[in-house]
Amino acid sequence: MKALITDLYPICRSITGEGLRETLRRLQRLVPLDIREVASGTQVLDWTVPKEWSIRDAYVADATGKRVIDFKKSSLHVLNYSAPIRKRMPLADLRDHLHTLPDHPDWVPYRTSYYKETWGFCAAHRVVEALPAGDYDVVIDSTLAPGALSYGELVIPGSTTDEVLISCHACHPSLANDNLSGIAVAVALADVLAALPKRRFTYRFLFIPGTIGSITWLATHPDTIPRIRHGLVLSCVGDGGGFTYKRSRRGNAPVDRAVAHALRHSRAAHTLRDFVPYGYDERQYCSPGFDLPVGCFMRTPNGEYPEYHTSADNLDLVRPAALEESLGVLRAIVAVLEGDGRYRNTSPKGEPQLGRRGLYGSTGGAAHLPGFEFALLWVLNFSDGAHSLLDIAERAGLPFATIRGAADALEAQGLLEALP
Ligand code: ZN
Repeated sequence: MKALITDLYPICRSITGEGLRETLRRLQRLVPLDIREVASGTQVLDWTVPKEWSIRDAYVADATGKRVIDFKKSSLHVLNYSAPIRKRMPLADLRDHLHTLPDHPDWVPYRTSYYKETWGFCAAHRVVEALPAGDYDVVIDSTLAPGALSYGELVIPGSTTDEVLISCHACHPSLANDNLSGIAVAVALADVLAALPKRRFTYRFLFIPGTIGSITWLATHPDTIPRIRHGLVLSCVGDGGGFTYKRSRRGNAPVDRAVAHALRHSRAAHTLRDFVPYGYDERQYCSPGFDLPVGCFMRTPNGEYPEYHTSADNLDLVRPAALEESLGVLRAIVAVLEGDGRYRNTSPKGEPQLGRRGLYGSTGGAAHLPGFEFALLWVLNFSDGAHSLLDIAERAGLPFATIRGAADALEAQGLLEALP
C-alpha cells in the first residue's frame, strides 16, 4: 500500500484531466478496474460535467529567469484547475494570486478553484515573504477545454446482485493521507475480496473525483442505486491517529452497526460520529433523494490534523502499520456484512445436548465457559428468527467471528436453519 502511495504521489491530479486518468491507469495494473469517461457538458443531477483541465508547466520566475515557484517541484504549487496565463507583472499584482499559510510558513497549501475560472499559485509563506519587489514572469501552461471526467469502477461479483459500495476520491494532487491512503487501502481490500472463495455481495469500488464524481455516478446509475445495501467512503486511513467512523445519514444502518462492532473488537482507539452534511462523497450518497446506507471510514478526519490540505500531508505522514490496521478493520467489517443472517434453532425446547454432538467439552465445572462454547449457547438461545447473528454478538459481547463460527458448527449439526 505504501509503495502504491509513493508511486502515485507526484502526479498532479484534479477533478478531470490526464493526472486523474494516469492514476486510474496505474491502478488498472493492480486491479481490473474500468476507466469511464463522461463528456464535459453532460448534465448530472443539478450539475454539469466541467471542462477538462490539462497542465503542462507553471512557474513564477524572477528578473534573472530563476524559477522562484515551480510546479515541476510540486504539483501543489499551482492553484488546482488554474486557467492559463503568461504575463510579466509586478510583485504587488502577483500577490493577489499567491496562497500561503502564515501559521505554517514552510508548508505549501493545497487550493482549488474548480467552479470559478481564475489562476493562482500556492507557495511557502517564507518564500513569498522573501521575494524582492520587481517584475516577475508568471506562466501557467494549462488548458481548460471540452474533454471528459474520468473515474474508475471495479465490480467484483458475488452470489447475489445486492451490492456493497466502496468509494474514494482520487482527485487530490500530491497529498498522501487525503487521499492516496484511501485509494491504496481500497485497492488492497479489492484484492482481498477477489481472493475470497465465495462472496454473498457484489462489491463495487469507485475511484472518483470528489463531489462531481459521485454526482456523476449517481446520475448515471439509476438501476444500480437500489441494489446498494451497504457502503463506505474511505478517506485519511494512513495517519497515526485513531479511527473515526461517521455514520450514514440513517444512523442505524447495518453498515453503521457492522463498523461499530468491528471497531469495538479491534482494540484500536476509535470514535463514532453521527452524520453531518459535510465531508466527503457520503454527502452525495446520503443526500435525501438517495439516503443510501453509506458511512465514512477514516482515521483522523478531514480538517482535524494540521497537515491536512498542505504539503505536509506527505509520504512521511502515512504509516504502513496504520494502513495495515485500517485494512484489517475493513476486513472485519466485510466479514460481518458477509456473515450476518438470521437463523432458527431447530431444537428450541431445552438446550440440545451438545456434548453428544462433539460441540461441548466433556469436563464440566469450570467457572467460565470458553468463548466458543459460550457462543454456542448464545446462538442457540437467540436464534428465534428475530435476532441476527450481529444482534447476538452484540448482546453477548463476543466478536462476530466467534458467533459466526458457532453458527456454522450448529448448522453443520442440523441444530440451526438459515432463514431467508
Ligand atoms: Zn481533501
